[in-house]
Formats: sequence, C-alpha cells, structure tokens
Amino acid sequence: MNLLHKALRIRPLSAEELVRIPSRLQRNVISTTPFTPNQVVIQGEKKQSFTFDHVFGPETTQKEIYDKTVMKLIDQFLEGNNVTVLTFGHTSSGKSYTMGTTEKSTHESKGIIPRSITTLLSCVNSTQYKTRKPFMKVSFVEIYNDESTDLLCEGGDRKLNTSLTGLQEIRVNSAEEVTGLLSLGQLNRRSNAQDLNRHDPDNSHVIVFSPKLNKQFDGEWVTVTSKFHFVDLAGNEMVRSFGLEHKLKEHFTSTNELTTKVAIGNAICALGDPSENSTFLPYKGSKLTRILQNYLCNNIQALIIACVSPIEYNIKETVNTLEYAKHARKIK
Ligand code: ADP
Ligand code: MG
Repeated sequence: MNLLHKALRIRPLSAEELVRIPSRLQRNVISTTPFTPNQVVIQGEKKQSFTFDHVFGPETTQKEIYDKTVMKLIDQFLEGNNVTVLTFGHTSSGKSYTMGTTEKSTHESKGIIPRSITTLLSCVNSTQYKTRKPFMKVSFVEIYNDESTDLLCEGGDRKLNTSLTGLQEIRVNSAEEVTGLLSLGQLNRRSNAQDLNRHDPDNSHVIVFSPKLNKQFDGEWVTVTSKFHFVDLAGNEMVRSFGLEHKLKEHFTSTNELTTKVAIGNAICALGDPSENSTFLPYKGSKLTRILQNYLCNNIQALIIACVSPIEYNIKETVNTLEYAKHARKIK
C-alpha cells in the first residue's frame, strides 16, 4: 500500500534577505490561522488557500517538524515498509536545511536526516531488535546534470550508471559513524571538486539507509530489507530529469514560468499513483527519475515536505510549489 503525507514548511525571512531585497518586496504574503491549522492563505493578485496534512509556520523548530511528521514513519520502516521523505521547492526555500544535508548545524538546528538516524540506530540496537541480528548500511548519491555520483566512493570512478551498480553501501553502527560518512560525502560533491564557477548549490541528493532485519513469518526466520530514502530534490534538476524541458517550452512562453511548474507537479503526482501517472509522466530513463521510480512506487510510505519562503519577492515560485503539492494524490 502506498501512502502519501503532505506537509508545508514556511521558512523565516533571513538576515541576508533583509539587506538584499527591497523592503516593499519583503511583505509577508502567506499566512496561517489558528482556526484552520492545516490551511494556508496566500495573498497575491488573488487570494488562494491550500490544505496540507501539516502546516509549519516560520517559528517552527526542526524538532517539531521531525516529531510531528517523520517519527511515525520510523515504526513503519522497522516493520519492513519502505519509507521516502522528500523535500521540494525553489532554490533557497529551505529544503536542505529541513532535510539536514547542510554541513554545519547545532543540536537544535539538526535536520531530519541526523534525527532519523539517531532514532533508527537506537531502535535497532535496542533489545527488541537486537535478537533479529540487525545490519545497517548507508549510501549517499548526488545527482547533478543528470549524472549520479557515489559520494561515499573513495578514489576511483565515482560515476554511477542508472541501476546504481556498485553503489557503496557502508555498514554503520552508530549515529556518529553516519554523520562522519555524510560529511565525507559532502567533501566529494561534484560542485566542490569540478565546477568552481558554479554558483548554484541546489543539487539533488538521495541518501539511502538500508538495514537488514531478521523477522519471523509463520515460524520461519527470514531476512527483510526495507529502505529509508531521504531525497533533497532540487528544482532545476526536476525540470531536467523528468524530461520536461521540451514539454514545458511548448506550454509556457517565459522561462520564469517554465522553472519548476509542471516538473514538480509530475514528480509529485508520481508519488501519489504511479500507474495512473505513468501515462503523462515521461520516464525518459534519466537517473533521478529511475531512482525515484524505484523508491516511490513499491509499498511506500512517503512524506513530501513542500518548502516555501514567506515573502512577496518569491511569490511566483511559492504559488507554483503550493499548486503542485495540491495535485499530489493521496492513495488510501
Ligand atoms: P534550499 O536547499 O531549498 O536551496 P537551504 O536549505 O539551503 O535552501 O536554505 C537557504 C538558507 O536559508 C540557508 O542559509 C538556511 O540555513 C536558511 N534557512 C532555511 N530554512 C530555515 C529555517 N527554517 N530557519 C532558519 N534558517 C533557515
Ligand atoms: Mg539545497
């Protein structure tokens, strides 16, 4: 059974934006009301409202997001379901901050990945699971320009083919080991090594956490492998990977409109109902598409977190993100 949970996170205005963006464009355009906590109203040329399973305003802490959305998926995962947590939105909307793929963080600002890993490892090492001989492994892939790179591969060729043959899966025993591997992976990012002129840090990252647990079925012990995927989906990469550049150019006249609009929609709809969407989602054999296809279609508990900025300056991207989150279908 596929199940899709939808959340929205509105990030706070940053100190850097206060300086850079003209004050008239700093007007807050997105609001929540205490009476309808799952709804947001966006005030652009017209007023529109959108409903989510959870709405998190600018004051929300990292812990609150984790406790209210991700924690309940951990049990599902330990019982053998595949879980995917995906953040999406325009550049600088807070995707990586929410996911916790950015390098430096304090205890409070730790994102979803380090929090999940701490919980998962402590569960697996608890007595309840210990007898099932658990075995935890982690992989870390970066997708940029439709090429995937194994960020945990030391030396040699780090490029991966579409089926991710030879992807490093490193055995881990503690949360510290995982954090260490993720920092190592950050150092191996293509953007650091090869493309010093590139100003856009918005790459897609997929982190897979896969334990093997022994489980008893009808008196027999079998090994169950479920996967926990963390996807930090870059807006630019979505357009490219879903093979939509062409399609988009036919439908939209301006590049601005072309950005994330249809691309996010298709990606998100694919989460909801793969069978129905395969007809209009052009799976063109791009790496990200194939990776996501595997991760999103089979017995998945998926959580998508739409990330937006609160101000008028970003209103166009914000409306796009909200509209596409709206079209993500919920399978019961
Ligand atoms: P994205 O990955 O969507 O491009 P980032 O996660 O890198 O965006 O966020 C852009 C900037 O805003 C970063 O400097 C990040 O630390 C900051 N930021 C994002 N969300 C929050 C938040 N909820 N609270 C504080 N700072 C945030
Ligand atoms: Mg990012």
